[in-house]
Amino acid sequence: MKVAVALGSNLGDRRANLELALRQIAARPGVRLLRASRWVRTPPMRGGTASGWFLNGVALVETTLPIDDVLSLCIDLEARSDRRRSRFWGDRALDLDLLLAEGIVADSPRLTLPHPGLRDRPFFLEPLLEVWPDAVDPRSGRPWSAHPTPPGPRPVRIGIPDVRRIG
Ligand code: AMP
Repeated sequence: MKVAVALGSNLGDRRANLELALRQIAARPGVRLLRASRWVRTPPMRGGTASGWFLNGVALVETTLPIDDVLSLCIDLEARSDRRRSRFWGDRALDLDLLLAEGIVADSPRLTLPHPGLRDRPFFLEPLLEVWPDAVDPRSGRPWSAHPTPPGPRPVRIGIPDVRRIG
């Protein structure tokens, strides 16, 4: 099953935080990194408490794990970074979100899939389409590439992850 994981950081060496997370995801038995998007620079979301700009990107993985285990992996990696969980949309060294998993719809508090933010966060949708151009919304059967461009500031592309050393 293909799964798209969004990565974000707005604390410390953002790029190093995200590339370490990519390596840690790829190192998990049962997970193979297929592609990583370019990194994009985005302002903090309106209504949140974060102070600095974010670096975001999306990794496309192929996995034999149940989706719940992929979520647990993400939560573990966030906890191992110096993430501060106390503030809503606050500063974080590492934020991992599951965006989309092939054929899976989930509606529990622990896991909502596809991620609701895909509809309105350009820093989710643009990198997703870069790594998974024919991604389909399992709720509607429609391609994500046909989805209207979300409003808000355009993410600025700033670099290619060093994926040669990953996996
Ligand atoms: P956040 O503060 O946005 O990182 O939210 C983390 C919590 O959201 C986790 O405890 C997850 O169980 C829950 N959650 C629900 N849906 C998702 C999703 N698609 N990806 C990641 N976390 C999710």
